[in-house]
Parts: sequence; structure tokens; C-alpha cells
Amino acid sequence: MEIDFDIIVIGAGVDGLSIAYQLSKKYSVGLVEKNRKYGLETSSRNSEVIHSGIHYPTGSLKAKLCVQGNQLLYEFLKENNILHKKTGKLTVAVEKDETKEIERLYKQGLENGVPDIKIIEKHQLKKFVPESEGLYALYTGSTGILNVHYLMDCLYEKFINNGGIAGFDEKVINIEKKNGLYLVETEKGQYCSEIVINSAGLYADQISSKLDFNYDVFWAKGDYFTISKNFNIPLLIYPAPIKEGLGIHLTPRIDGILRVGPDVEYVEKSYPPYPDEKGNSIFKPDENKKDFFYQQIKKFIPNIEIDDLVPESYGIRPKLQRKGEDFKDFIIKEEMPGFINLIGIDSPGLTSCLAIAKYVENLL
Ligand SMILES: Cc1cc2nc3c(=O)[nH]c(=O)nc-3n(C[C@H](O)[C@H](O)[C@H](O)COP(=O)(O)OP(=O)(O)OC[C@H]3O[C@@H](n4cnc5c(N)ncnc54)[C@H](O)[C@@H]3O)c2cc1C
Repeated sequence: MEIDFDIIVIGAGVDGLSIAYQLSKKYSVGLVEKNRKYGLETSSRNSEVIHSGIHYPTGSLKAKLCVQGNQLLYEFLKENNILHKKTGKLTVAVEKDETKEIERLYKQGLENGVPDIKIIEKHQLKKFVPESEGLYALYTGSTGILNVHYLMDCLYEKFINNGGIAGFDEKVINIEKKNGLYLVETEKGQYCSEIVINSAGLYADQISSKLDFNYDVFWAKGDYFTISKNFNIPLLIYPAPIKEGLGIHLTPRIDGILRVGPDVEYVEKSYPPYPDEKGNSIFKPDENKKDFFYQQIKKFIPNIEIDDLVPESYGIRPKLQRKGEDFKDFIIKEEMPGFINLIGIDSPGLTSCLAIAKYVENLL
């Protein structure tokens, strides 16, 4: 067998692209993607939020990679003139019993090394959001927003400029290890490498099972609506978190339009994926959720009307926890010499992308 690449990366989402770019500085890298272009799946169906790192248990990979990734990402976005904004974020308690959760997050944020965080009392809150019914809040100054498409365009271009080779419409259907080398079989051909990195997002468990490393991954959909009126809210507003997610929140998109969501709805793995087999994006949210979203968001914008909500999109997270189960961390590890798995890369997988790439490099 002749080696085609030092390393093959499977999956060209924001994490696969970051890894491929980082490794292409030193190695010959092939990137294989089943769709006709990079970033057509979860990486372009998210909130586009640069998280601060307050939400993840201290010592977890998610906490470390998010805090590190936040800083690396701002530096990269600045250096490469990619549209982004450090807006800051408020996590707001509207019920008295939620204030404890805000204090827990504050403490966790400090322990995780999150910069620029402070408690905001009710009277100060009005300065940020005059309409809010909130009682108490946590402000995180390092939270921001970006245009994820521009980020992926830039990562891809840099990867190609480093001599990286990408193959699109190349669904990986098998991997074998032979004589210490990996043979990656796609619907179009076979490629041989010393190292394989599985960054296949929602399908990473399927890829991993080809080499007998089996994981249970669950799909959790999140729907989004936008707000058609301008309420002049310049920063992100989140409720106190709920067990299964961050709660329905309010995020200004980089174009200024307010986005509401996502919720967390576990779906069958047969749920219509995006894009469809013709490459069309079929990704409208469930319009029956409009009233629920409206009730949640009224706490922060009391004079919003239900018809101000417009269906936008949905994204699907690959989760390691079943519905109702507690926090599960990213799995990023070398399963056997030369085979690195990334499993359960849900949020904050976008914020952490550059830190994940460095972490993977250190595993080699
Ligand atoms: C609703 C929602 C909101 C989110 N909000 C945020 C946020 O605000 N901030 C944040 O940091 N994170 C957020 N995330 C998480 C973030 O979007 C993901 O962690 C990140 O996009 C994962 O990127 P990825 O490259 O690992 O996976 P993906 O983007 O899923 O890419 C995987 C790629 O692998 C390809 N692939 C799969 N199988 C094969 C195969 N057999 N052969 C070849 N290629 C294959 C796919 O086509 C795909 O292109 C959110 C996620 C969701 C769903």
C-alpha cells in the first residue's frame, strides 16, 4: 500500500476544517467530506455564539477548550478580518429561586478562568435591557457572535494554501487498518494514511464503529425563530439554564436581527437530515412551537407580540447524554495508534474549534 497522506480528516465541519488547517502546517492532509461543500451540516445551523465557558463543569474538556477556544477564536477572527462582535451576554434570573443558579454559574465561571464576569443587580439590569423583568443577572463580557460561514471559508482557504487536499461528495463507507496503515474507503475511491481523524459530527459514531469503537450518540434538535421588529437589544440574553440546555435565549445575529432559540428536542436518527440528497437545505423549524417560544421570550421583552416571531431554521446536536441524563463531556481521544475520534461534539464545538485543533495536534 502506498501512502496518499500523512493524515486523513473525515468531515469538513468547522471542527474538521480547523483540525485540517492546523495539521496542514506540518503534515500532508486529506480532508474527505460527503457533501458537495464544507460546512453544510451542524456547523452552519447553530447560534453563532462565541461562548465564554461559564456553563461547563470545571476541569471538563468543554470548559477548558471553550475558554481557550474563545480567546484563540477572537484572535483569529481579528487577524483575518472575519465579521464578529464581542457583545457580552446576560444570564438572567426572572424567578427568585433562579438566583442561586446565577450564583453557581458565576462561581463556576471564575473557577473555569472566564475573564470579565460580574453580577448585575436588578436596578443595573435596566441599563442593559430597559424592558426586562429580570431580578438578578450574570454578565459575561467575553461572549460574542460571528459569521460562521466566513470563518469556515477562511479555514478552508488557509488549508488549501498550505497544500491540503479536499475531496467533496466523498462519503466514507469503510476504514480498515492494514500493516500499520489506514485504508479509508469512500464512495469514489480508497486512500491510505498513517493517521485518521474522525470528525464526522452527527455520524461520527458510524465512522468509529467501522474500527469497532462503539458509542451511543443521540440527536437533539434545536429550533429557531427570528423577531421581525427591532427591539434594540445589543447583547445576548439567556435565562437561568435548564437541565437539558441553556434555555430559549435571545441572540442578535451578526446582521442585527434577533434570533430566538434553540430548544432541545430529542429526535430519531431518521429525522430529515440537512441538506437533503439533492443538496437542498430543508430546515424549517416546527411552527407549532411558536407559542412556547413566545412565552419564554416575553420575560425579557414584555411588549413583544406572537406575530413578531418568524420561523427561521433548526440544527441538530450529536449528544452523548440520553434525554434527561446529566452533563457529558466531549470525547476527543486516540482510540488506537493513529486513530483519533471526536464524538459528541455539541456546543461549544464552534467556540472551541481552534482549541480542539490544537488539542488533537497534541494527541498525535
Ligand atoms: C442548535 C445548535 C446550536 C449551537 N450553537 C452553538 C453556539 O452558539 N456556539 C458554539 O460554540 N457551538 C454551538 N453549537 C455546536 C456547534 O455547532 C457544533 O459543535 C459544531 O458545529 C460541530 O462541528 P463539527 O465539525 O464537529 O461537525 P459538523 O458540522 O456536523 O461536520 C461534520 C461533517 O462530517 C461530514 N460527514 C459525516 N459523515 C461522513 C462520512 N461518512 N463521510 C464523509 N463525511 C462525513 C458531514 O457531512 C459534515 O460536514 C450548536 C449546535 C446546534 C445544533
